[in-house]
Amino acid sequence: MEKLRYERPIIRKLESAMPNKFGSRTELLPKTHIDGVAVKELIDNYGSPLFVISEQTIRETFQAEKKAFTTRYPKVQFAWSYKTNYLNAVCNVFHQEGSWAEVVSGFEYEKALKNGVSGKKIIFNGPDKTEADLRKAIANDSLIHIDHLDELYTIIELAGDMKLKPRVAIRVNMDIGVYPMWDRFGFNYENGQAWDALNKIMRSDKLELVGLHTHIGTFMLTAQAYGTAAYKLADLALGVQKKYKHKIKYIDMGGGFTSNNTLKGAYLPGADTNPGFEDYAEAITSALINSDFEPGDLPLLILETGRALIDDAGYLLGSVITNKRLSDGRRNTIIDVGVNILFTAFWYEHKVTPAQEFTHYAEDTVLYGPLCMNIDVIRENVSLPLMNKGDHFVIHSVGAYNMTQWMQFITLRPKVIMIGTDGEAHLIRDNESLESITSHERMPDHLKKFEL
Ligand SMILES: *Cc1c(COP(=O)(O)O)cnc(C)c1O
Repeated sequence: MEKLRYERPIIRKLESAMPNKFGSRTELLPKTHIDGVAVKELIDNYGSPLFVISEQTIRETFQAEKKAFTTRYPKVQFAWSYKTNYLNAVCNVFHQEGSWAEVVSGFEYEKALKNGVSGKKIIFNGPDKTEADLRKAIANDSLIHIDHLDELYTIIELAGDMKLKPRVAIRVNMDIGVYPMWDRFGFNYENGQAWDALNKIMRSDKLELVGLHTHIGTFMLTAQAYGTAAYKLADLALGVQKKYKHKIKYIDMGGGFTSNNTLKGAYLPGADTNPGFEDYAEAITSALINSDFEPGDLPLLILETGRALIDDAGYLLGSVITNKRLSDGRRNTIIDVGVNILFTAFWYEHKVTPAQEFTHYAEDTVLYGPLCMNIDVIRENVSLPLMNKGDHFVIHSVGAYNMTQWMQFITLRPKVIMIGTDGEAHLIRDNESLESITSHERMPDHLKKFEL
């Protein structure tokens, strides 16, 4: 048996505030393994910090969402939102599950093609599609979601030039009762912009209007907002059908569903309060089913869920550098994970769990990253047991946006591992090195030499 570790006693001030009916939640169990693979072994083999993605969790989460929608609606198609996590291995798990690709830049478009997605199954969103991007998307018969009128005119011009009939949809923004409104993207429903764009498309005769798209926001805490949005898109689709005798093939509801994360300042943990796939599915599908579409004529429902499908499958493992006391007496634990690789620490209170046994004396702790920058804080206040220098921990639900928004700053970006459904760890992105970073730099001749 391991000898019990000595832990210095602490004196804690009793706060004489209102009692809290939830008590103070402390995580009681260490997270020693991810999908059966020991955290310590992963760090020994691949270094610290380390991103770990669970293939099993991705597939299970995807199946749960798919089930929620397909049991309620006859025709459903998913499209993986590349910007949420575009590591090729991650994208391919979604493609194996049947997802198309949803991209918002020429770079992402190329990535999807290289992964083997056929052009016809790539949805091209976003306000910044260059003429070259549009030419490629038209030639490949991709689904182009138009964001603004200048783009619409360019596509009409290119269609004439290329003698092809591009398949297009418009992105629609609308008042769904959640503010601030995301009204910078696409055409507004209430003020008539959406109809203006639809009329221009239908009268040009150069484009094939196949869909209507919206993406109402991200981390949407109310499922009913999607019901309102689906109702408004159905109304537009029915209007086009009536006016032009033209059927819209699909309604694309975008992304924006929550993961299990907890937003900063939230009173309860996100896992207890955030809507689930069933709530979103119920809101969207009942709005469509209860609209005036003929029963056999319901449009295909496309979903571009990003965050909710990958966040909980991602973990960030790290190690403790040291413990100190702040001037007010609080414990300050410095870890090797900074905000440069955990961008979402700015809006989430990420769950952090020690990766080895610990004593059950929790103390309010500030978790600081390793960067020489005051805003490098991973948790401002979290109740944690003592973790000593070299101890490991696991940060939960980091799969969305961190591996695309991370930046190389002071430290280098770490490796990313996927634990496969085979139970094996696979390296899916190597760490950066001095060479990989400096390979992008060029030195002018006159700066090559110096003497000190
Ligand atoms: C970012 C984005 C998504 C995915 O959003 P999540 O909030 O991650 O689900 C889907 N569609 C579009 C157009 C997007 O820009």
